[in-house]
Amino acid sequence: MDRQYFDVVVIGGGIIGCALTWELAKHGCQVALLEKERDVALHTSGRNSGVVHAGFNAKPGTLKARLCVQGNEAIRRFAHEHRIPYEQVGTWVVATEENDLGVLNALKRQGDQNGVPGLELVEARDMLRAEPHSRGLLALYAPTGGIIDSAHLTRVVANDAQRHGAVLCCGQRVLGIREHSHEVELVTPTHRFGAALIINCAGLFADRLAHTMGVGRAYRIVPFRGSYFSIRRAGPPIVNSMLYSVPPPQLPFLGVHLTRTVHGTVLVGPDAMPAMGPEAYAASLRNLHEFCSLVSRRVIWKMMYRYRRVLVSQWGPRLWQRKRRYFCQAANRLVRGLQEQELVCDARVGIRPQLVHTSGELVEDLLVERTERSLHVLNTVSPGMTCALAFAQWLADGVRGSFIDAAVTA
Ligand SMILES: Cc1cc2nc3c(=O)[nH]c(=O)nc-3n(C[C@H](O)[C@H](O)[C@H](O)COP(=O)(O)OP(=O)(O)OC[C@H]3O[C@@H](n4cnc5c(N)ncnc54)[C@H](O)[C@@H]3O)c2cc1C
Repeated sequence: MDRQYFDVVVIGGGIIGCALTWELAKHGCQVALLEKERDVALHTSGRNSGVVHAGFNAKPGTLKARLCVQGNEAIRRFAHEHRIPYEQVGTWVVATEENDLGVLNALKRQGDQNGVPGLELVEARDMLRAEPHSRGLLALYAPTGGIIDSAHLTRVVANDAQRHGAVLCCGQRVLGIREHSHEVELVTPTHRFGAALIINCAGLFADRLAHTMGVGRAYRIVPFRGSYFSIRRAGPPIVNSMLYSVPPPQLPFLGVHLTRTVHGTVLVGPDAMPAMGPEAYAASLRNLHEFCSLVSRRVIWKMMYRYRRVLVSQWGPRLWQRKRRYFCQAANRLVRGLQEQELVCDARVGIRPQLVHTSGELVEDLLVERTERSLHVLNTVSPGMTCALAFAQWLADGVRGSFIDAAVTA
């Protein structure tokens, strides 16, 4: 079996792993990216809404809050330099009832604290000029909200990393990792790799890899599935940008929204329902096995108990109604006159790698755990795609002086 040695091996070819590989390769690091599939971006990074978030949703002081604002700007620049279709269409969060007004004002304050440029509260009648089909009382407008094709972005980042000397190895599922004092050994079905440092960016499987190295045992990833409909209607799109309701309290999911994509379609979604397993896009025997193993964990039941009220209020309406009707009603809170028959089930299904603490609490921020020679990136939930380039720079900067250089020369 071949054995190759690198300064750094990154595991996982989603946007986070590709961005880290790119960032390290640009600085002369010998880096390999191992991806289990035949290409990058086949999981969460190729199955999301493609929204480049402005940065008002994250709690001030969190890593997400800082990196989302910086990442938004970094993606805009990267897209321009690499000629990737990107449109800064702006984001609207709409208060549709009196109860929403307090949350909307709090979001504005939060966004200002996070340094989101140009945030303003806009009266409904003024919003109609930009979004003629919209409805609501008052809206928060963020001019830096953008749209991009996330799979395309990920592939271009991976290609550019290769141009800077990174080695991309697809079809290499990491099966085993062993950390020694001088290096880390990795085993895939066909190869062995050695590295001074490994970075685990395995998305939905990041907790499992971390656990095999004795790291992050206080956490577990619980997969939440998000599905979409797209709107099929003649004439101009029903929205020109993105319309969101005010986010549901206590949950890190933004609720069903309308997003125009760079391909001109309009997406309605995603919802956030428990998934049978990490890659359970369709029902299968393997997913049934995953599901049984998932529900046998105490952490799941603790999470359900802790969030029982909000889960009932969020999941109840989705479970009690036909799926199309639920999505249509959610969309019609934001726009006028959408008919159920205009909604077409979209093939895109994304699964969130939501990290849950053993106490049952949902983790909100990005989390990096480490051993002497490994880093583990956990909880890459939304807005992970937006944060990715800034996150990669932050992590690479943070470890280059101390960790990587020391590890490489050890
Ligand atoms: C429905 C939905 C909508 C979203 N919308 C947005 C949005 O609009 N804007 C935004 O900013 N964010 C959004 N997000 C979040 C964003 O998509 C994620 O944060 C981001 O894609 C996570 O990237 P990742 O690289 O961590 O994971 P992934 O893209 O899942 O990549 C992980 C990779 O690791 C590989 N892998 C796993 N195990 C192994 C192994 N053992 N060996 C080798 N390879 C392995 C997998 O095959 C996979 O390719 C959304 C997420 C979802 C689910």
